[in-house]
Amino acid sequence: MRGLDFTRLIIRTLIVAFYFTIGGTASAIDAIDRMTAERLQAVHQTILKLAAERRNVPREGALHEYRANLHVHSAFSHDSRGKIEEIVAAARAAGTSVLMFTEHPASHYDVFVDGHKGTRDEVLLIPGAETNGMLVYPRQSIKEVESARPQDLSDFVRGRDGLTFLSHLEERMDWDIHGITGVEIYNTHADFKNEKRLISSMKNPLWLMKTADLIRQYPQEVFSALNDYPADYLQRWDVLCAQAPHTGVSANDSHQNIGLTVRLAEEGKVKIEDGLGEEVLTLEATVFAAIKPIPDDAKPGTVLFEMRLDPYEFSLRHVGTHLLLTELSQPAVWQALNNGRAFVAFDWIADATGFDFAAYASGQRYEMGSSPKIAADLKLKGQAPLSSHWKLIHNGKLLQESDGFNFESVVKEPGNYRIELWLNIVGEDRIWILSNPIYVSE
Ligand SMILES: [Zn+2]
Repeated sequence: MRGLDFTRLIIRTLIVAFYFTIGGTASAIDAIDRMTAERLQAVHQTILKLAAERRNVPREGALHEYRANLHVHSAFSHDSRGKIEEIVAAARAAGTSVLMFTEHPASHYDVFVDGHKGTRDEVLLIPGAETNGMLVYPRQSIKEVESARPQDLSDFVRGRDGLTFLSHLEERMDWDIHGITGVEIYNTHADFKNEKRLISSMKNPLWLMKTADLIRQYPQEVFSALNDYPADYLQRWDVLCAQAPHTGVSANDSHQNIGLTVRLAEEGKVKIEDGLGEEVLTLEATVFAAIKPIPDDAKPGTVLFEMRLDPYEFSLRHVGTHLLLTELSQPAVWQALNNGRAFVAFDWIADATGFDFAAYASGQRYEMGSSPKIAADLKLKGQAPLSSHWKLIHNGKLLQESDGFNFESVVKEPGNYRIELWLNIVGEDRIWILSNPIYVSE
């Protein structure tokens, strides 16, 4: 038997070695690899360490920074049950000051007229829609054009002081819509869609039950285990920015609809409901009891087990769009998004507040999104609240790399310059911040 065990061990070692050889690139790590108890614990410790090391860096210039979440669904949308009070509470917990809703249009409500607006608990609410492949933030009802061609819908909204962003780029890499405000440069749902192993695991209620303990301990780290560098999105964005400025924003695609509730039912059964409260499965109570004992005093209707993978707090903290505003108001948000004065940050790793990227020439400062003319003394400068790995991207190509809290580069050529900031988390390089470009003109 010992000989046989040893042979098995050798075979297993060879298989593992082979797996690492063929999958030896960075992309081989997926959400399932990141969801072991050891790795989640290590990531959690690193996040605490980064929070302790973080420096508050004062911002130069006249603008103030506010965190926004775009692409958020509430109970108006058919695929969410989110109540405004719980979404606002989650936003506050995640450090968000601007919630930009994107409901799926339906006949029983008007996205703009009925949508969430105004200020609630100091959080600015902006109504909008996810429709025709775009995030649409109109300033009036769009009922009459909801099913128009994307270009016509965008023209209608843009022509009436609204904003439009291409959404879910992975489904429309070939779209070339004129006059849009910008594009999603990261979408959480798109990031989730290529997690093949995670998706197949999630169809298994037994896997969900086992994972529930890890979620209770490390809810943010489990949620953000899906986080990869959005290479294809950024490639497309660079191409679009070469044609005209496009403000890059992040899309949370928050729904709070992935989860599982197990209730005791009549006649020795248990019922399993999905994250929207829809019944998906009925089991013999004895089958369930083999996994988790049922308390003696449980009655029909008693919740025996509950878990949620995507509560608003964790999906909103995961990624945010930081806006540089004159004040916290809808017109100021419009100014920032129309002019590219924004950056995207995976704040689940560390609060990116204070990050800065700007151009300087002749004593003048140019914010992200602006178009300074090439000049002998034109410099790009950056600062970050943590020592990080800086990558300067020029017209879609890596131009310069360095490490530290600060960054500086002399501009020699016109073109589009943007910054990527990376942090090493438990041996893995993770994208932390994506700036909007500075468009240096001839
Ligand atoms: Zn959506």
